Amino acid sequence: MSIKFVDLQKQYASIKEEIDEAIAKVVRETAFIKGKYVEEFEEAFAEKIGVKHCIGVANGTDALFVALDSVGIGRGDDVITVANSWISTSESISLTGANPVFIDIDEDYFNIDVSKIEDKITKYTKAVLPVHLYGQPAKIEEIKAICDKYDLFLIEDCAQAHFTTSKGRNVGTFGDAGTFSFYPGKNLGAYGDAGAVVTNDDRLAKNVRMFANHGQLKKHDHWMEGINSRLDGIQAAILSVKLKYIDEWNKKRNEHGRLYNELLADVEEVQTPELRDNTFHTFHLYVIRADSRDGLKAFLDMKGVETAIHYPNPLPMLQAYKHMRYKANDFPVANYYKDRILSLPMYPELTEEEIRTVAEEIKNYYLTLRL
Ligand SMILES: *Cc1c(COP(=O)(O)O)cnc(C)c1O
Repeated sequence: MSIKFVDLQKQYASIKEEIDEAIAKVVRETAFIKGKYVEEFEEAFAEKIGVKHCIGVANGTDALFVALDSVGIGRGDDVITVANSWISTSESISLTGANPVFIDIDEDYFNIDVSKIEDKITKYTKAVLPVHLYGQPAKIEEIKAICDKYDLFLIEDCAQAHFTTSKGRNVGTFGDAGTFSFYPGKNLGAYGDAGAVVTNDDRLAKNVRMFANHGQLKKHDHWMEGINSRLDGIQAAILSVKLKYIDEWNKKRNEHGRLYNELLADVEEVQTPELRDNTFHTFHLYVIRADSRDGLKAFLDMKGVETAIHYPNPLPMLQAYKHMRYKANDFPVANYYKDRILSLPMYPELTEEEIRTVAEEIKNYYLTLRL
């Protein structure tokens, strides 16, 4: 028996005809770059999220970079972000010439510890970049209040949180801009790289659109230098098909997360993810904190259960940030949990039986440990 960490083939099989037809149509019409399929997706995504503008870009990292650059972040600026994320979060800050300023995660929800933000604000601080990690919303209302108080831009990294909500409102709509990745394994995934920036700000939308397309809105009318970061027609057409199913898929992920929580509730060595009141957790990842994590991971591997670690090291501890001379105890929470976190199989098509098997094997592991 083997239980995959993610199984993209199962999802493709469930919508194969629609996807194949969508791809064939783009090819028949050679609508490869920009064009009607990109526009259709941008409009549908903006409407569903509840914002005025969606600008498709080449990937989620570019979405962050383009959004930061377009609000005017650059050399000499500080951008406050979180110690536990995928490197794109901080990489995109550095790409603008600004400096990432890392903040530890909170004990309960693995997102930026809001109580530590104000201490780090200086005259150089221009923006806060929280991440809604694993599909769990950051405490975005509180972060927004701090940004308003200090007149800082708020850019939300929603790469792992498509249609995650807080008090009924989609993440990505609280800040000046929200950025999304449609990497294949994300909750809403393309069949290659893709991303988007969403915003309600007309001027920002225009800047983002220009910067991501060589500084032009009309061909050969370059207002500035930009980059080439566009959403492909084929990816857009695929995303439009998948957008119709995202609520159903997110609902399944949420149910799977709750079932895991229930089944693992009485395993003393395991701490399951907490759900916050008045939020909808879309469980891009289902991450437990486990005693003797490496042993558990090896045991599950032997039993055919694939797992992963998100992430093995907090961002400031990576070689890439060595020059910042952070010490592990600068981020005590992230540092403590990095050796305990374990991501279990999670995708909509996972069956109840598979989830029960994973939970059983986890229990078996701790039973053998106790013998
Ligand atoms: C995936 C991801 C990104 C980057 O997305 P790409 O499309 O791979 O460039 C950014 N931030 C977070 C938190 C992510 O998980």
